[in-house]
Amino acid sequence: MQIIDGKKTSAEIREEIKVKVEKLKEKSGKVPGLVTILVGEDPASQVYVNSKIKACVEIGMHSKLEKLDASISEEELLRLVNQYNNDPLFHGILVQLPLPKHIDEDKVIEAINLNKDVDGFHPSSVGKLVIGKDTFKSCTPFGIMELLKRYKIETKGKHVVVVGRSNIVGKPIANMLVQKEEGANAVVTVCHSAAPDLSIFTKQADILIAAVGRAHLITKDMVKDGVVIIDVGINRIDAREKKKGYKLVGDVDFDNVSEKSSFITPVPGGVGPMTIAMLMTNTLKAFSKLENIN
Ligand code: NAD
Repeated sequence: MQIIDGKKTSAEIREEIKVKVEKLKEKSGKVPGLVTILVGEDPASQVYVNSKIKACVEIGMHSKLEKLDASISEEELLRLVNQYNNDPLFHGILVQLPLPKHIDEDKVIEAINLNKDVDGFHPSSVGKLVIGKDTFKSCTPFGIMELLKRYKIETKGKHVVVVGRSNIVGKPIANMLVQKEEGANAVVTVCHSAAPDLSIFTKQADILIAAVGRAHLITKDMVKDGVVIIDVGINRIDAREKKKGYKLVGDVDFDNVSEKSSFITPVPGGVGPMTIAMLMTNTLKAFSKLENIN
């Protein structure tokens, strides 16, 4: 069994991007810029946003945080997005979700300039992904693709079973893996909460991707020998021995399932750290396209 080390891979990717950013800066005098728009005080969102900004700074990208009061109107927010759509200093725009209830998230995402949609959530980006056109890929599933590639895990003709059908993980990863291209070309099954018996499907998986949000949903008896496990879930469970009183675990019963698997991502330290690395990748891509420089 081999551990897929997302923390190490993410650090490698960010180092590669840092070198590219330095070279592009020498060539053009410009650096990629990412603006992050955070509305309200959601503590989890603040943690995510801070780590995104830290990554930008370490890589040498220009980063700005627009921290807005939860009472901002939809109209004002749309105006701000439009301002950054036209600001040449910023090549990527990220609106941290969720937004307060009085704001229509879809409207805000659709207002983002397609060329700056580094989160890959715009419906046109998603549509292009589905039909196999070049586009910004949403960061968590893109990170999974990168892990499979860097660990040289064959996907062509393999049966990938995805558990979970969310718009940010389940659906996009299924669409990426089914494409007729290198690093994909898999036979994909998507399972969700309406599946009467998950194990019928999971037992057939060569590669199992769990993106549900239920601690230890996937147990040893549900997988076959040699399976590759990608665990996207992040769940808090009580742990009295820990200072904080809890620990993070995935959707997969790691200790037991790892005995049967050929590769497995841990939680934490697997898929999680890849999201930011791919956000940086997308921001660099936006910069190269908008500035017409490579
Ligand atoms: P979501 O809540 O939007 O969707 C969960 C999906 O699981 C749904 O499609 C539902 O149909 C399915 N589901 C629920 N119960 C099920 C069951 N018993 N059997 C089969 N399917 C079932 O979730 P999400 O946003 O995709 O997130 C999933 C997990 O991944 C969460 O734990 C989340 O924290 C984590 N996550 C991690 C990252 C990261 O590491 N960067 C990013 C996004 C999400």
